[in-house]
Formats: sequence, C-alpha cells, structure tokens
Amino acid sequence: MQRRCIFCRIIGGEAPAHKVYEDERVLAFLDIYPSAPGHTLIIPKAHVARVEDLSEEDAAALFRALHRLVGRIQAAVGAPASTIGVNNGPESGQEVPHVHIHVIPRFRGDRGGIIQGIARSGRRPSGEELRRIAERIRELSAASDA
Ligand code: 5GP
Ligand code: ZN
Repeated sequence: MQRRCIFCRIIGGEAPAHKVYEDERVLAFLDIYPSAPGHTLIIPKAHVARVEDLSEEDAAALFRALHRLVGRIQAAVGAPASTIGVNNGPESGQEVPHVHIHVIPRFRGDRGGIIQGIARSGRRPSGEELRRIAERIRELSAASDA
C-alpha cells in the first residue's frame, strides 16, 4: 500500500506539526524549513495536488483561511508584510503534491524578491500577442462554464 502524503499524515495526526489554525476544510501549520520566521502553510484537508483540481468549496475555504490568518501571522512575528504564493505543479517547484498556500512574512531589507521575479521572460509582448492569449483564456472559460 502506498504511504499517504506527508500533509495528509499531518492532517490525520500521524505526523507532528505546529498547527496554527483548523476548520472543517482547512489546516494551517508552520513550515518545517521556513523561508522566514512565521512561514505558514495553509492546506485543504482533502488531498488534491493542484489548485485547478480543488472543489469550489475548498478553494473558497482556503482563501477565507488565508484572509483570516495573514494579519495574525504577520503580527506574531512583527512583520510589516508578507508574500503569499502557491507552487502549482512540479515544473513550478512544487515538491509536496498536496495544495498548500505559502505565507512568508517579509521584513524591510530581507533581500527577498518579488513573485514576478521567479520567471522573467525578459521581453514585453506585443499588444497582438496579449490579445490572442486573453482571447484564448476567455474561450476556454466559456467552453468549461457552458
Ligand atoms: P513546495 O511543495 O511548495 O515546494 O513546498 C513544500 C513545503 O513544505 C516546503 O517549504 C517544506 O519546507 C515544507 N515541508 C515539507 N515537509 C514538511 C513537513 O513534514 N512538515 C512541515 N511542517 N513542512 C514540511
Ligand atoms: Zn495529501
């Protein structure tokens, strides 16, 4: 039998974690290798690898928990700001295949980067290229909403 994922084991109480929040759908706990003090992971209790595969209910519950927690996380460690992000799929660097929102407290002069800095195309696309991509996304949205 395959071993359950590490985050599922934390949810099940089979692996330890410093929990900071829990509700019916969501659990939040401190990252074991924090990028900054207070680095927190917010996860759905359902094992889902990618954001696009979350149920709408879990997607809403995750953002609700983020909204509640982010100010408290910052206050707990005296951070004036935070970076919030999701590595979504292995090519983005996702190592644990269970959706998790990283909340990384940020401090003036911490020498951290910005989210846009993780993949820079280094070029400004033409208006035509932007128009085509936006149109394609709208078409796919219309097709899946139909
Ligand atoms: P990602 O999948 O987005 O690259 O990151 C996974 C994150 O989970 C990492 O920041 C890593 O430190 C954290 N992590 C991995 N295993 C554990 C664990 O057993 N406990 C906790 N609290 N965090 C973990
Ligand atoms: Zn899992």
